Amino acid sequence: MSKPAGPRWVTTSAPADESIRPDGVIGPFLTVTLDEIDVFNDAFSDEIDSDFASSICCCDACYADFRAHWPDVAFREMEFQTQSMEVFYAVDHSRLPGIWSPAEISTLRHFVQCGRCMEFATHNIWIYEHTFSDAEKIEVEIDQLLTIGDQTPFLLLEHEFARRVLAHIRSAVIAPDTLPAGQSLYRARVSSSIAILGQATDALVAYAPPPARYVQEGRFNHAGTPMLYLASTPEVAAAEIGMPGEQCHIAELRTLRELTLLDLANLDEEASGYALMRALASSALVAAPRIGEGWQKKQYVFSRFVADCARSAGYDAIRYASTKNIEGKNIVILAPSLPIDGMVSLVSVREMLGLAAAKRY
Ligand SMILES: [Zn+2]
Repeated sequence: MSKPAGPRWVTTSAPADESIRPDGVIGPFLTVTLDEIDVFNDAFSDEIDSDFASSICCCDACYADFRAHWPDVAFREMEFQTQSMEVFYAVDHSRLPGIWSPAEISTLRHFVQCGRCMEFATHNIWIYEHTFSDAEKIEVEIDQLLTIGDQTPFLLLEHEFARRVLAHIRSAVIAPDTLPAGQSLYRARVSSSIAILGQATDALVAYAPPPARYVQEGRFNHAGTPMLYLASTPEVAAAEIGMPGEQCHIAELRTLRELTLLDLANLDEEASGYALMRALASSALVAAPRIGEGWQKKQYVFSRFVADCARSAGYDAIRYASTKNIEGKNIVILAPSLPIDGMVSLVSVREMLGLAAAKRY
């Protein structure tokens, strides 16, 4: 098919008051109208969809905000981490050059719109699709829940999202996932703190949760409520302790009985409630990394609410993704009803240095 002569193949030269040109950048550009920009963005979205079966999830302008809402996506999802690219590169390597003229492409690639913040992307775009819908609405709900958690935490159940979480957890306990007896899990202690307390490093009691009076708020436990936090591998335990380079003792503990499990780490896409639980597990409501001694921060109120829901429904434990180790999973045994020697046995103890958390994107 022959191309029209001249620099305009698709766009028209509209009057100056109905058209714009890229701002503050060097180069010969054409003027384009907002409608022409919309048509170009629709075609570009289709290109992204056909190449990646996905869409633009954020741009430089809203990347930090995306990551704050969805810390688990930015940390764990390879697709998110590998499918970021310079917006000009993405346009130039699409099929759009050839439909629009070189002069039009050189203009319109400045007007690729981020579907999340609606800004024109200046450098990079990230291409990723959540496995649940309504992310935009859920982001608003996350903000509302974090605010309620911070200001009036006892009123969380007035929020519809919180009510849906409670209802789902109560209904799913009828056919729960389970963790079998005989499962090996790991718990780290800093060696110097075992020594200060005069405990034996080869005694199970050294790996028990501290007595209630010393227990501060944690990701899933209220202050004064001891819970047993365990990791899926020694390396996860060594990272979770949050003291890279510190000498640690890491115990391999084996479960003595089957535990019913609220599983936030291995969600079944076919199961009912998947979209709700996947949004929850990906979000700042349960997956915010711990920074410093920030347990009192508003992010951790909702994870404790989830633990309350799980305890009330009758679950023994929650499995959740590590915020330190990309492959890692953790198990928290919720307010164990038995002393530690009724829950787990001590298999072995090894010494290891605390590990640094994996890089966050
Ligand atoms: Zn954006």
